[in-house]
Amino acid sequence: MNDTDKRLQGYRRLIDIARDLASTLELDILLNRIVSAAVDLTEAAAASILLYDDTARQLHFQVATNLDLQTMRGLVVPLDGSIAGWIVTNRKPVLIDDAHADPRFYQNIEQVTRYPTESMLGVPLITKDKVVGVLEVINKQKGNFTDSDEDLIQVLSAQAAVAIENARLFQQSDLVTEFVHELRTPLATIGTATYLLLRPEISLEQRESIIQSIHSETMRLSSLTASFLDLARLESGRVQFHLTPFDLQTMLTECMQVMQSKADETRIRMSLEMPADFPEVVADRDKMKQVMLNLISNAIKYNSSNGLVEITAESNPKQWTLSIRDTGVGIPTKALPHLFQKFYRVQASEGKVPGTGLGLSICKQIVSGHGGSIEVKSRLGKGTVFTIHIPRQKTTEREKVFELDGQEPN
Ligand code: ADP
Repeated sequence: MNDTDKRLQGYRRLIDIARDLASTLELDILLNRIVSAAVDLTEAAAASILLYDDTARQLHFQVATNLDLQTMRGLVVPLDGSIAGWIVTNRKPVLIDDAHADPRFYQNIEQVTRYPTESMLGVPLITKDKVVGVLEVINKQKGNFTDSDEDLIQVLSAQAAVAIENARLFQQSDLVTEFVHELRTPLATIGTATYLLLRPEISLEQRESIIQSIHSETMRLSSLTASFLDLARLESGRVQFHLTPFDLQTMLTECMQVMQSKADETRIRMSLEMPADFPEVVADRDKMKQVMLNLISNAIKYNSSNGLVEITAESNPKQWTLSIRDTGVGIPTKALPHLFQKFYRVQASEGKVPGTGLGLSICKQIVSGHGGSIEVKSRLGKGTVFTIHIPRQKTTEREKVFELDGQEPN
């Protein structure tokens, strides 16, 4: 096939891709389609999208055909001293035959991914005059990237940028609508309460109880806002996970200490069971702690007095597992499929136990961000158990060292 035929074939593919991209508003699916289209169009070995965070002035990998989610989460590219950064700043494409010979090349990424870059082609993703990120293809399978590859990728990037922006706006408007809806109840309660307070015939006792309800609704509004912002950040994919090795037992003990006084209020006993030689885990410590605090807090909130909360941790070479078991009210079977949805609360607990219905959505986002899964089993009136599985890291330097050590004959 000659060059013109190839180009024509590429344009035909682009029309199909445009249709495909317009048909989804789910950001993750969309980004995956864009990178696989980029690989196809340019016969590259791999492609990736880095999204630009203009507050932190850095780029982070959002999707790549050659990297798993966990590796990507840790990968940040600075604006200065990187090819992707140069593309953002100059708003121009870059076509390079030998990346290592280019002074702008950012070496750190390769050290983590162990995926050598030779040739590369990168273009900015621009919508409404704003750079939202960079699309890169690397290592052309035969020869080097050509001007015709650059043309194709430029057209793809223009379509991709619009699709990404639409998906983001859609995600935000969806979330904002739900949030505003959730704000209405506490605001209405506070409104009515203040109106009542102004009436002269209100007794001192009634006054106190009204003030109490204003206080608790204000607390609820404040935790709703904090959780909402947390979730919005996680859903937008802009949250960076900082993976570090740490001792799980210490972290779990800290969580139990934080929750102790709350457990004491209803005489709930907490226990932790895990092997003494539990190997170090690699994860975002603060975020995993947030997950555990959420689950333990629920296990206490939805328990009966004198109940139990049992935390167990297990590990094998592939993954580590945490479970949080309580002897509480349980969850009706028909509610289980909705449990991880935003703002969802089981009807029986609404009005009785304070909450926002966002905790479990946040947990799920964090666990998925680690490439893991979270599941729930429950029996009404008996209790509930939440189980988290997190795959063990393969790509960190330290585990690489372990693997090599293990292969040594002596
Ligand atoms: P919140 O607790 O703030 O309402 P979550 O997202 O943490 O929000 O939980 C969603 C709902 O799931 C809760 O409202 C509650 O009905 C139910 N739930 C969560 N954990 C438990 C548990 N351990 N036992 C029983 N019900 C639970």
